[in-house]
Amino acid sequence: MKEKRERRQALSLTLRALSDIRKIVPGLLEISALHAAVSAFGPFLTIYLSARIIGELAGQRRPDVLWPLAGAATLCGALVLLLGGVLLRLRDAKRSLYYNRDNQLFLKKWIAMDFSDTEKAENRDLYLQIEQNTCWQGFGLSKVMECFFELIQELLGVCGSIALAAGLFTLPVPASAGGWTVLNHPGMLLLFALAVAAVLGVAPACKKQEMKGLEYLAENSRFGNRIFGVFGCFVSQQQAEAAADVRMYEQPEIIRHYLTKNMVFGAKSEHGRLYRGKLGLLGALSSGIGAVLSGLIYLFVCLKAWAGAFGVGAVSQYVGAVTALTGSLSGLLTTLEELRGNVPFLRTVYRFLDIPNAMYQGSLTTEKRADRSYEVEFRDVSFRYPGAESYALRHVSMKFKIGRRLAIVGENGSGKTTFIKLLCRLYDPQEGEILLNGINIKKYNYRDYMEVFAVVFQDFQLISQPLGANVAGGADYDAPRVKRALSDAGFGERLSSLSEGLDTLLYKDFDEGGIDISGGEAQKIAIARALYRDAPFLILDEPTAALDPIAEAEIYEKLDTIVGDKTAVYISHRLSSCKFCDEILVFKEGEIVQQGTHEALLADKNGRYAALWEAQAKYYSRG
Ligand code: ADP
Repeated sequence: MKEKRERRQALSLTLRALSDIRKIVPGLLEISALHAAVSAFGPFLTIYLSARIIGELAGQRRPDVLWPLAGAATLCGALVLLLGGVLLRLRDAKRSLYYNRDNQLFLKKWIAMDFSDTEKAENRDLYLQIEQNTCWQGFGLSKVMECFFELIQELLGVCGSIALAAGLFTLPVPASAGGWTVLNHPGMLLLFALAVAAVLGVAPACKKQEMKGLEYLAENSRFGNRIFGVFGCFVSQQQAEAAADVRMYEQPEIIRHYLTKNMVFGAKSEHGRLYRGKLGLLGALSSGIGAVLSGLIYLFVCLKAWAGAFGVGAVSQYVGAVTALTGSLSGLLTTLEELRGNVPFLRTVYRFLDIPNAMYQGSLTTEKRADRSYEVEFRDVSFRYPGAESYALRHVSMKFKIGRRLAIVGENGSGKTTFIKLLCRLYDPQEGEILLNGINIKKYNYRDYMEVFAVVFQDFQLISQPLGANVAGGADYDAPRVKRALSDAGFGERLSSLSEGLDTLLYKDFDEGGIDISGGEAQKIAIARALYRDAPFLILDEPTAALDPIAEAEIYEKLDTIVGDKTAVYISHRLSSCKFCDEILVFKEGEIVQQGTHEALLADKNGRYAALWEAQAKYYSRG
C-alpha cells in the first residue's frame, strides 16, 4: 500500500518536473523524443538490411536482389545518420538553453517568496542542497530531462527489437533435424524469458542499490561540498577589498584545516569506501550478468540456425535484435529506477518551490496621483521578527506628512531599519496596521504598492553592468534622466571623467575594462537609482554613511532640490544632517520616544534627542 502510494507520488512529481521543463524550454521534450525515435529505429533498419544482404550472399547471391538491398542499406543508413545528426544538434541547442535557464525557476521563486522567508537559514539551506544535488550528479529537474530521452529511446528500442526478434521463436527447426527439434519446444521460450528476466531483475536491482548509496552520499557530502564551495577557491575568488584581509590574517591557514581534515571526499572517506566496495561491485555485477546473457543468446540462435530453422543472414538479425531487446529492457528498467531514485531530490526541489506565501497578497491597484498625495500612516504597529523573542517595534503610531522631510534617528538596534522594512511591506506587522490613503497596505497589489517608494537601503547592491543600466534598472533607459539623477546624487563630475559615460561597466566581474568604484561612489549611484525611479516617497537609510564629510555636505545642500515635492525619509546617525528636516522621530528600543522639529527636540533638555545631540557634539568638537 505504502509502496503504491510512493510510486504514485513519484510519478506525479516526475510528471510535474516534465511540465516545468517544458515551460523552461518549450520544444525541448518534443525534439528529444524525435531524436530518440530516430536513434532507436536507426540500428534496427541496419540490422534488418544487413541480415538480408548476408542471407543473400550466403544463399543464391542474385545481383538483382543484392544491388537494391545494398543501395537501400546505404541510403537508409545515410538518411538515418543525417536526420539523427540534425535532430541531435537541435536537441543539444535546446538542452544547452535548458542548462542556461534552469536556475530561473529558482530565481523567480526567490523573488516571489515572502521576504521573511528569504532570510530563513532553512530556506537558504534547501536551495544549497538543490544546487549541490544538481552539480554533483544532475539530480533534480535535469535528471528528469536526461532520463526522458533515454526512456523514449529504450521504449522504442523494446518495440523495434521485439518486431525483429519474433522470427527467432516462430520459425521452427525442421523435423529432419532430429533431436534438435527440442529447440521448438515452447519451454525454450520460457527458458529464454527466464534468462532475460534474471538479467532484467539484476541490473535494475543493482541500480536501485546504487541510487540508494548515492542518496546517502548526497546527505553525507553536504558538509564537505559546502566547505569546498566556500573555501575551495577562497583565495582566488575573494574580491579585491577582501584580499588584504586574507593576507593579513592568514585566512588560508584556517581554510587548510578544513580542506585537509574534512575527509568527505578522500580515499578513506565514506565515498571511497562505498565505491571501492558495494557500489563498485554492483556496477560490475550488472555488466557481467549482461555479458553472460549475450553469450547464451548467441548459443541459442546459432543452435537453431545449425539445426536449419533459418539461414546465416537471420543469425545476425536475431542476435542483434535479442541483444538490443535485453539492452533496451534493462536500460528501460534502470532508467525507471534512476527516476525513482531521483524522487527524493525532486522532493527537495518542490519543497523549495512550494514554500507558501503567507503574506496576504492584495489586488487593489494604487491610485496614480499626479499630486503625489500618498498619505501613509502607522497605527499602533508592533512587530517581532520571525523566531525573535522581543519586539523590534512597539506601538508605533505616526503619519507621514505629504511632501515633507522626515528624519529618523536613534541608536543602533533601536528599530529604524525595521520601521522602513515594514513601510515597504517586506514584513507584515503582527499588531496594528499600516495604511496608505486610509486603506491597509496589505490590500494593495504588492508591486503596485512598491511603486510608491524609492529606497536606498544600507546594504544596497549594484551589479556588474553598465552604469546607466544600474541606475535605470534595465538596459533601455532615458539617458538624459539618468545623467540628471547621477548629477543630483553628486556623481556628475565623475561621470564626465568616464570616457564611456553611461556605458561604463561597473566592476571587473565580466570585463577587465570595468571600473572599480569606492564605497562613496557606489552610494551616490545607489541614490541616483532611487532618484531615477521618481517615486512619491524617497527613503534613504543611512544615505551618507560611506561619504566623506565634503560629499555628505554636498548631498545635503542639494537635498531640497533633489527631493522636490517628494515625501522624504532619512535615517541617519549624524544628527547634524537631520536638523534641516521638517520633523524628526526619535527611536529607542523599538518605540518612538520623541517627535518634533530639531529646535523643539533640542529644547527638551532631558529628552533622548538632546542627549544624542550632546554626545555627538562632544565627539565632533574633540575632533
Ligand atoms: P536600527 O536600524 O535602528 O539599527 P534595526 O531595525 O535594524 O535597528 O533592528 C531593530 C531590532 O531588530 C534589533 O534588536 C535587531 O537585532 C533586530 N533585528 C533586525 N533585523 C533582524 C532580523 N532579520 N531578524 C531578527 N532580528 C532582527
